[in-house]
Amino acid sequence: MSGADRDAPAVTLLDVRVVRQGRAVLRVRELVVKRGEFLGVIGPNGSGKSTLLAVVAGRLRPATGKILGAGTAGGRVALAAQMTALDPRLPISILESVMVGAYAELGALRRPGPKVRARARQLLDMVGIAHLADRPIGLCSGGEAQRAAIARALLQRPDVLLLDEPTSALDWRAQREILACIKDIHSRLGLTTVMVTHELNALPELCDRVLVLRAGEPVWLGSAREALTPQRLAETFGIPFTVLDHRDRPVVLF
Ligand code: ADP
Ligand code: MG
Repeated sequence: MSGADRDAPAVTLLDVRVVRQGRAVLRVRELVVKRGEFLGVIGPNGSGKSTLLAVVAGRLRPATGKILGAGTAGGRVALAAQMTALDPRLPISILESVMVGAYAELGALRRPGPKVRARARQLLDMVGIAHLADRPIGLCSGGEAQRAAIARALLQRPDVLLLDEPTSALDWRAQREILACIKDIHSRLGLTTVMVTHELNALPELCDRVLVLRAGEPVWLGSAREALTPQRLAETFGIPFTVLDHRDRPVVLF
């Protein structure tokens, strides 16, 4: 990717306002996600993080404003949604759950063919669970389900990958492995990635920039290092924070 491309916008939100049940839950005057960047999004529960992703993914229409660059005319956008509990009785395999990602492209009535199946297998390999292709989705761990969700999003061949709390409810090892996997995929596929997370200590390693949301509004955008100051975190989450400097990297204490 050339230097000029890198600063080009992948997605631009202009004067976007999202109203849910009569309440404005997201107000963004201007937000530019740069092509090729890894943007982290943090903020308290209910601050509009998932709403922001849903709007960029085209799953939710804003009451007013514009989203440029997303969708068919611009880059493709795919969302790996926040983890939902899967019914263990669901009779589909992990491979089939990934192939669901192709229906947007095929239309609901066409069955995905061998090409889609082969690509789904390839993606399972990329996210490290090729060996689980035929396992019923109800029988996989949280980490495995998250990897499958990422593969499902990648099947849509996105330019922009949106991840909503990909490490929530995972143990420490699974968290680190998923984050490493996401980082690898981001650079290997040359994606623009927007990741919502509460994993503050993962931000410096992964993110080019961090966006802070509070009560439905972006309140800060900048480097991960500067995002993780005690003052900024206290303002954002409404509790005091201690941040240590460890080998030139900020570490937020629980
Ligand atoms: P976050 O992801 O930061 O926790 P959300 O974007 O999910 O926050 O929610 C932002 C606000 O929108 C919250 O106040 C939430 O209650 C509200 N909200 C979310 N989903 C819906 C919905 N389907 N209908 C009505 N209000 C919703
Ligand atoms: Mg959310």
